[in-house]
Amino acid sequence: MSQFLVKEGVKNQIRKGEKLVTTHCCYCGMQCGMHIRVDEKNNKVVGVEPRYDWVLTKGKMCPKGVTAYQTIDHPDRIKTPLIKKNGKFVEATWMKLWI
Ligand code: SF4
Repeated sequence: MSQFLVKEGVKNQIRKGEKLVTTHCCYCGMQCGMHIRVDEKNNKVVGVEPRYDWVLTKGKMCPKGVTAYQTIDHPDRIKTPLIKKNGKFVEATWMKLWI
């Protein structure tokens, strides 16, 4: 696992017009602590900050976790299940997958 190194004692700063939502990265088993930066005006996620008070990772996150928020509004994001029919993927419902 590659991680950024940060100085001990660094605190997260809340920028004007943004709030921090405390959570963790769920991309892999490390579950690094992080805050999601949310623009309060339009309630959009605009970035993440590592949690320096997180016991295990102490402010370290890998590039994958730091950039994961960019997938939220990405135009190529798949938001519904897809089933392959006649060689092409078509949208399906979650119920359709179980029947
Ligand atoms: S930041 Fe990287 S190492 Fe940490 S949980 Fe996310 S993917 Fe795993």
